[in-house]
Formats: sequence, structure tokens, C-alpha cells
Amino acid sequence: MLVTKHKLKAVFFDRDGVLNHLVQRDGSFYSPQNFDDFHIVNEAKEAVDIIKEMGFLTIVVSNQPDISRGKLKQSELDQMTDMIFKNLCVDDVFYCIHDDENDTGCRKPAPGLFITAQKKYNIDFNKSYMIGDTWKDVEAAKSVGIPMILLDKDYNQTIKDIKRVNNLKELILLITSDSIHEKS
Ligand SMILES: [Mg+2]
Ligand SMILES: [Zn+2]
Repeated sequence: MLVTKHKLKAVFFDRDGVLNHLVQRDGSFYSPQNFDDFHIVNEAKEAVDIIKEMGFLTIVVSNQPDISRGKLKQSELDQMTDMIFKNLCVDDVFYCIHDDENDTGCRKPAPGLFITAQKKYNIDFNKSYMIGDTWKDVEAAKSVGIPMILLDKDYNQTIKDIKRVNNLKELILLITSDSIHEKS
């Protein structure tokens, strides 16, 4: 009898603007550059817990170009990552620390972070989801066939023809109903 290797399903989370708040400065939004500015959103823990109970891996995929730009210290990023693991109990966190000019295919919209996670966990992209807040998340997920859900924000209204949720509670409802996969 042929033994088929069981593939896992995952919910991929962008980090900044999804799991933690952005930092607002002069009317614009930025990724936190200090651990003191790193604040996890209220409903994130419950959302991750429920998604794990539903049998998904929970994986963070995040661009952190401020490392390459010298605006974010590795030690500050490490503290943020520790907090994510401690407070949210996600299964894994994958970062791209490059900027456009020195990237090696992992900086979203490139799909490298998803590919790395897939190799490590044998993930079925078609049965998975990506939740993010920018066009880079959308394009990265699209390029490897992961159904994309956009967290609705004032700053992402120019992105068209995309499934949106207002918060992580709505994300749970959407995943529970599995309306995206049924359509495809
Ligand atoms: Mg983001
Ligand atoms: Zn990279």
C-alpha cells in the first residue's frame, strides 16, 4: 500500500498591522523600531488559539527591512519575537531582514518565506490562508496560490478584488465557514 505523506494546513500571519499595532508618526504608520513600541493587538491571542484548535499551523511571515537599514537592532527584534512566542504561542516566525537591494527572494512580495515554511512543515498552500494588511502580502500569497484575506485598513483601500475582514474575529468566522476554499 502506498503511504501518502500527510500535508499540513497553515494560517500565515503578517506581523505588523495584523498581530501588533503600527506606530503612528506624522500621520503615517510605521513598523515598531523599539521593543517599547511593540504592542500585540487585543484579539490576537484568542484568534491564534482558535485557529490552532481548528488544526492549522500558525506561522508569522514578516518583512523587517529596518534591520538592513540600521533602524532596528537585532536585539530589539528578538525581544519582539520572544513576546510573540510567549503571548501568542504561534508555531513559527519567519522574517526577511533584507531591503530591496540585498534581498535573496524572501522579501514579500517575493514568496521566499512561504517556501521556507512549506519545506519545514510540508504545508498544503491550497488548504491554507494568508492574513495581511498590504499589497506585498497579497502579491506574495497570490504567487504561491495561498488564499489571501486582507485586514481592512484606511491605508489599503486601493487594493481591489480581495476578500476583506475588519478584525481577527471576522477572520475566524471566515475560516470556519471556509467560503474561500469552497469557491475555488
Ligand atoms: Mg503588515
Ligand atoms: Zn529577504
